[in-house]
Amino acid sequence: MTKTSPPAETLNDPFKRVMGVLGQLQAPPLHDSAWIAPFEQLVGAAFSLIESEKRGFSCRQYSPVYHPSVQCKIVGLLQELGGGKESTKKDALDNWLSRYYFNAGIQRVNFAAERLIATFAALPCKCGARPPEITVNNHRPPNFQQRLSGAQARLTHVQAEYTTPLPKLQSVLDQFGSRYDRNHPFDPSKGLAMIRRDVNSRKHAVYKRSEVLDALPRPASGTITWSKAGFKARMETGVQCLELVVGAYSELLAWYPMAKF
Ligand SMILES: [Zn+2]
Repeated sequence: MTKTSPPAETLNDPFKRVMGVLGQLQAPPLHDSAWIAPFEQLVGAAFSLIESEKRGFSCRQYSPVYHPSVQCKIVGLLQELGGGKESTKKDALDNWLSRYYFNAGIQRVNFAAERLIATFAALPCKCGARPPEITVNNHRPPNFQQRLSGAQARLTHVQAEYTTPLPKLQSVLDQFGSRYDRNHPFDPSKGLAMIRRDVNSRKHAVYKRSEVLDALPRPASGTITWSKAGFKARMETGVQCLELVVGAYSELLAWYPMAKF
């Protein structure tokens, strides 16, 4: 965890921020470490957000012709790419890829955060005196709320016996624990809850255009939700969440580097 803030000129530059956070990621020392899965997902998340920004995600505008100019052409454009040919529609290809990598990035931020919490709560504590906070019960794995409460109980215990505070991990738990639904206002302080909602709704929901106003221009007034917040605000939130989860991961790795199941 770094104690110094990044210089002001890099604050609004998602690409530089993600490159910075990538540089902070340390691999766990053991090949069978309990922290391997979150590590892999955080590396993948950073790479995906870098590739997304290279293709200009946060500078994009809502396009009323996205369907004819990108969606209807993307199969052929990916065939050209796969065949090693020069692209005949570079901007349409980059447009699609920037979204593809952004979604791949925030999915991994979400998976990494959830697995970090699950791992922290399911480990027997480093002190040897405290069993796992959560276990499989009657072949049923714990649900998200149980993992969240388990991780909070473990954190309260660890903070009493370990002298270094774990503020990033506490923020991860607070963000997930905050109340958030898709129609709630865009709120970067609930970034992980917004991303989790977005990732899960893509996994399970049917597509309703009226509910997926993908990156429409920000309305001048009224409630701005995640899906209406625009590309720039979503990338900034994605990067901020990545920074937070990498911070929490680094705190846990420093607390218990040799953890394994
Ligand atoms: Zn302990």
